[in-house]
Amino acid sequence: MSNTEATLFTRIINREIPADIRYEDDLCIVINDIAPQAPVHMLVIPKQPIPRLVDASKADRSVLGHLMWVAAEVARDAGVDEAFRLIVNNGEGAGQTVFHLHLHVLAGLKAAPMFVEADLGEP
Ligand code: AMP
Repeated sequence: MSNTEATLFTRIINREIPADIRYEDDLCIVINDIAPQAPVHMLVIPKQPIPRLVDASKADRSVLGHLMWVAAEVARDAGVDEAFRLIVNNGEGAGQTVFHLHLHVLAGLKAAPMFVEADLGEP
């Protein structure tokens, strides 16, 4: 994909592709994930198409903070503010498939620990 081609999420923001929109303001949009991994699975997407989190610049700090605030707002609206997870996949190796930054808001499943303690054996 060339850099000038609109991302999938920009096309959703521009209403060229339908989506289940849960929230929108001047900086971001929130949609339901098309292939939910939990009973609640929303994507918080900046209107500015930053490809990956690591591509964000210092000037993007306020929009990054805004995305976190919106994530909490939509979690509250969905009634899951007591238990939800935020995930950002950064890069193909981490499972990122859409190269337009987004926060996954996941809730409604009993969350497993993030990491299982490694068995390093006896010292
Ligand atoms: P990631 O793998 O972190 O890049 O996440 C991309 C997410 O976008 C996946 O969870 C997909 O299910 C989701 N997705 C892909 N296409 C659409 C779409 N048209 N509408 C809503 N979510 C989508």
